Amino acid sequence: MRASPIQPTVDFNADGEQHGFLKLPHSHDVSAWGAEMIPITVIRNGEGPTALLTGGNHGDEYEGPIALSKLAATLKASAVRGRVIIVPFMNFPAFRAGTRTSPIDRGNLNRSFPGKPDGTVTEKIADYFQRYLLPLADYVLDLHAGGRTLDFVPFAAIHVLPDATQQARCEAAMRAFGAPYSMRMLELDSVGLYDTAVEEAGKVFVSTELGGGGTATVQSVAITERGVRGFLQHAGIIEHEESGRNAPRTTTLLDMPDGTCYTTSEHDGLLELCKDLGEMVDSGEVIARIYDAKRTGAAPIEYRARRAGMLAARHFPGLVRIGDTVAVVADVLERGIPVTV
Ligand code: CA
Repeated sequence: MRASPIQPTVDFNADGEQHGFLKLPHSHDVSAWGAEMIPITVIRNGEGPTALLTGGNHGDEYEGPIALSKLAATLKASAVRGRVIIVPFMNFPAFRAGTRTSPIDRGNLNRSFPGKPDGTVTEKIADYFQRYLLPLADYVLDLHAGGRTLDFVPFAAIHVLPDATQQARCEAAMRAFGAPYSMRMLELDSVGLYDTAVEEAGKVFVSTELGGGGTATVQSVAITERGVRGFLQHAGIIEHEESGRNAPRTTTLLDMPDGTCYTTSEHDGLLELCKDLGEMVDSGEVIARIYDAKRTGAAPIEYRARRAGMLAARHFPGLVRIGDTVAVVADVLERGIPVTV
């Protein structure tokens, strides 16, 4: 396969703190010999494990970009054993536009793996991660949130994997992230996911959903910053610290065992969620109502939970369309698990 057109301005093998770019040539109307300049930080101190930390895989999710921008600006090589590679805005064109997908090619980076070196801009970014960055990494953390159209209880997540040893290593890293919730996630369609690429490469991988609605909160950013540090401590890259950020806390283990977790809208209209995030739901309980909103006097359509559990995700905007995910109800497996790195 041909080489990637992306050129890093950083040296992945140099010690110290480097702030540079992944330079992706992109010729267009306002920059004939232009490039997309994707910010990257490499912090290295001698031999040791490598962590690859990413945000902005989807351009309208903000906890990752905020927490990783802060980390990139403050983490010193002297505090590191090994290497930390930070890409806070993975799909940088999408991030700049504030949209889930790229305004250049409408590419959804998290459906574009393994990518192509001679494909679209989004496919070129995927290919660079697949063939150049992933091989450098031992531990991979990809920070997501709900974006403009979903909202989540804050959780770190892993997938059920064919290799039980790898899954156990991912679960330990998820618990070290120590979000209020920890999820075994079910993907309805895992083709093209960065997650799948990382897991198939045999890495310790943790993903997250830390909030949503196309913004971030004080609480969700604090959870993210604490989680990133816990993840790096677990990897043995930074020291444990005795501070408020490491105060004892617990996580609740959630599971999404099958498709009945999802409630999908079969109507367009005005959405009334009948539960808030984190509330318990009985099987068959009304979880949402959708109003026609083109006339008065008609009864709303009722949506009932297809399983009992906790409302873990919801459609965020007030209007809903046919095909949208309205709600996700997860099983609560275990509460009060102590967080240990
Ligand atoms: Ca996402």
